[in-house]
Amino acid sequence: ATPTALMVGTGRGAQLGILIKGPEVLETTREVDTIVLDKTGTVTTGRMTLLATHVTDGTDTEEVLRLAGALEHSSEHPIARAVAAGYAGELPAPEDFANVAGLGVQGIVEGHAVLVGREQLLAEWEIHLPVELARAKAAAEAAGRTAIAVAWDGEARAVLEVADAVKDTSADAIRRLRALGLRPVLLTGDNEAVARSVAAEVGIDAADVFAEVLPEDKVDVVKRLQKEGRSVAMVGDGVNDAAALAQADLGLAMGTGTDAAIEAGDLTLVRGDLRSAADAIRLSRKTLGTIR
Ligand code: ADP
Ligand code: MG
Repeated sequence: ATPTALMVGTGRGAQLGILIKGPEVLETTREVDTIVLDKTGTVTTGRMTLLATHVTDGTDTEEVLRLAGALEHSSEHPIARAVAAGYAGELPAPEDFANVAGLGVQGIVEGHAVLVGREQLLAEWEIHLPVELARAKAAAEAAGRTAIAVAWDGEARAVLEVADAVKDTSADAIRRLRALGLRPVLLTGDNEAVARSVAAEVGIDAADVFAEVLPEDKVDVVKRLQKEGRSVAMVGDGVNDAAALAQADLGLAMGTGTDAAIEAGDLTLVRGDLRSAADAIRLSRKTLGTIR
């Protein structure tokens, strides 16, 4: 492609809300045949709401929301915001706090050792869900919600149900990507049931859903598809997505996402609208098609 054509393409991209890091990016964009989409914040709004709290016998709901909220207040995860907003009063400052990527948060609050996150996080401390909480979790997940476990002092105390919504532009974006000949793939750390229900809602095949993938393993999914001979684009917004964005043949960062994702990407979808991904691919084909 001539430098002029690439410059014109880059300028047109800016008008469409697509920031391209360098002219050579348009060359790769034209080639991609698979597009891996992060779920939370990319296909869905990422604005989670706390919908229900299930507690064990003798556990005080307010205490659950205060201890869990105190820890989550220190985390930037979309789930954390929903949990922290669930407590009406003033949250105590944790005496100790750690983020466990892809699993949850842990720390000390009011002298209690508190865990908030996936069942797997509790299992690492040999804490297991009693049957009533396991049931609540299964029911929440069957309904397409994310179930977050809360434990302290060695005992599971509650399951919180959180959910966000699919962006109203996502299904249309996926139709447009398919029309361009791309195969959409959904990639998430969230549970299988939620991932499948989101996939069904936006038109991604169940066979192309990768769920419960730890942040450090997201990059492996991209590598695996590349080994199958695919040219892979990845769209993401989170710190978790940065390595996968860098590994992909083409990394597309949501402009509404984290700085880490934007730095790792080759281009930024300024408005955080997934339809811009289809625009970017159409633009690159047009820019390069006219001069070949
Ligand atoms: P995604 O790929 O959908 O953005 P993450 O990898 O960030 O998901 O998180 C995967 C799962 O880990 C979440 O669905 C949740 O169950 C759990 N998790 C991660 N961070 C937190 C947190 N701060 N509080 C509670 N649960 C969390
Ligand atoms: Mg995300």
